[in-house]
Amino acid sequence: MSSGNTAKIETVPTAAPLGAASEHLFRTFARVDLAFERGEGAWLEGSDGRRYLDFGAGIAVNALGHSHPHLVAALQEQAAKVWHVSNLYRIPDGEKLADRLTAASFADRVFFTNSGAEALEAAIKTARHYQYAEGRPERFRIITFEGAFHGRTLATIAAGGQEKYLEGFGPKVEGFDQVPFGDLAAAEKAIGPETAAILVEPIQGEGGIRPAPAGFLKGLRALCEKHGLLLVYDEVQCGMGRTGKLFAYEWPGVAPDILATAKGIGAGFPLGACLATDAASASMTPGTHGTTFGGNPLAMAVGNAVLDVVLAPGFLDQVVDTGLLLKQRLASVVDSHSRVFELVRGEGLMLGLKARPPAGEVMAALRAEGLLSVAAGDNVVRLLPPLTIGEAELSAAIERIEAAAVRVEAALDAAARPAEGAS
Ligand SMILES: *Cc1c(COP(=O)(O)O)cnc(C)c1O
Repeated sequence: MSSGNTAKIETVPTAAPLGAASEHLFRTFARVDLAFERGEGAWLEGSDGRRYLDFGAGIAVNALGHSHPHLVAALQEQAAKVWHVSNLYRIPDGEKLADRLTAASFADRVFFTNSGAEALEAAIKTARHYQYAEGRPERFRIITFEGAFHGRTLATIAAGGQEKYLEGFGPKVEGFDQVPFGDLAAAEKAIGPETAAILVEPIQGEGGIRPAPAGFLKGLRALCEKHGLLLVYDEVQCGMGRTGKLFAYEWPGVAPDILATAKGIGAGFPLGACLATDAASASMTPGTHGTTFGGNPLAMAVGNAVLDVVLAPGFLDQVVDTGLLLKQRLASVVDSHSRVFELVRGEGLMLGLKARPPAGEVMAALRAEGLLSVAAGDNVVRLLPPLTIGEAELSAAIERIEAAAVRVEAALDAAARPAEGAS
């Protein structure tokens, strides 16, 4: 395995202390009191003067790690030419990126966005508009699955169906029917005369790295054929090489009609895309949908540079190999620290460790050992390293995870001991 863009940062200059956090940001995030000055490969330099191994990758975004030379060059070169022109004009790099994405997938057409939620909005609108244009305007409802996450816009919180994201924001956007993930019979039962489409993550990310059970996507495809529905995948997190295929649906070989992707596609530059077949997108003609920023020259330059790397011969094979090795080594960590970890699951470099104590405590221990991770539902600690990690980073991560497990075990032991001096 080659180590790719993973050069270690050997010396860390003394970082400037962060000071008190500003009072002038919305309080929407409970942020860790840590900032990063720079990064290289899988490593980040913290404001606390420590080096962190980044197995969160900005929530599955930094697919090629930090400061990848090919991406830095592409962005700098484009920045000196033209940043933004609007979609009133042709954007040659966008046409090129659409050609490449469609050549490498089921899709015929692409709509570029700035985020995952916007890619989902485009996907939802495209699915509804398809039915409308087919003379079935009553079909606007979309079946989604429990544990799903599709974004934070009004429509995507309704699609995700999680009460904690819906509460307080007025009437839930109409037209989403949720059934248990993996339950084909429930999905079929939910289909009615107003159903337009089925929307599913091939691997649930925020829901806790939960892969669709074997045969599930194939079953949904069959339901869509039988009932005249469109199959829509949310590959915002599991797409763009994360599982070792460009798109996760390639594993079972079940293509959708529409697919939303984002996160890794820009590797840190805000970029998303809605991909669709010609048939599904035929009615999306001038005036039906739009975006000011989506697909601008900066984003398109970076998107093409990301694909240069991800589609290079052997790159995805290496993601598969690294993912298998990491999963194997995590399985033995789970075995030897069964009080801390229950199981490991996921595909490629989209892995989750289901914790026994609260996942937040495990993540704090990981961070204390210099490893960054991301929380997910079902008490899972997500490990989403850059796709470029090599064996050195993998071994360094395993060492840190074991050390964190020992830390958590010590805390559990201390909590179990009767307090000294207590009678
Ligand atoms: C992150 C995510 C989204 C939302 O993407 P944003 O860029 O935050 O809008 C949607 N779906 C899935 C599966 C995601 O992981």
